[in-house]
Amino acid sequence: MKKYLIILLLLAPGLVYLPGTGLSAENEAETLNFAAQPVASFEMIKHTVVLDPGHGGIDPGAVGPSGVLEKDVALSISKRLASLFRQSGAKVVLTRDKDKEPGKGAGRVPDKVGDLAHRVKISEQSRADVFLSIHLNSFSGSGEYGAQVFYQSGSAEGEKLAKSIQSQLNICLVDSGREALPGDFFVCRNSSAPAVIIEVGFLSNPEEEKELTEPFYQTRASWAIFSGVVNYFAGEGVS
Ligand SMILES: [Zn+2]
Repeated sequence: MKKYLIILLLLAPGLVYLPGTGLSAENEAETLNFAAQPVASFEMIKHTVVLDPGHGGIDPGAVGPSGVLEKDVALSISKRLASLFRQSGAKVVLTRDKDKEPGKGAGRVPDKVGDLAHRVKISEQSRADVFLSIHLNSFSGSGEYGAQVFYQSGSAEGEKLAKSIQSQLNICLVDSGREALPGDFFVCRNSSAPAVIIEVGFLSNPEEEKELTEPFYQTRASWAIFSGVVNYFAGEGVS
């Protein structure tokens, strides 16, 4: 039902009636506590979305207290996100779709810059409209929680995209009060498309570590990111 609902919402939110439920798609969306999308799929067909699951292969990224690896959660969320974008009609390119770093030297030498450069190259060759790098956060203490989106300092479009995604993450996951933040990041600095780094949550927080491994939580996170991008494309940004 959820898959069907998403398609209906994208085609004609508020106008389509779900067979057998007596509810409009809009009402049904409210019962699921998801934000209804105001944009038709025609809007999305024009766009190419590059999804970059962070780390991979010999690079696990952050490791949670119970051993959850950032690279695994980032890939799982990215795959869910890819499904949502494909359903909406957008073209999707993943920089990796398995537990392996992109690039020729992958798996042989820890070459962080080479790895990141290859991810950007994939994005440039794909003529991305947006570049979304999916990561998990980590901190020395265990109390930090919530999603955090970063953009390249000085990039107006990156900032708009980041704020749009951050606002949806705060609605759909947990409102940590976090705001999108500027910074200097290799993949964002070298990307022609608006680019953001999305830290979906803190692996260093035991509760959030557990949530981040749960399929429904990952789907909610994906929906939030998807909604933020759709709103950005629609020029609506932060709600
Ligand atoms: Zn990371």
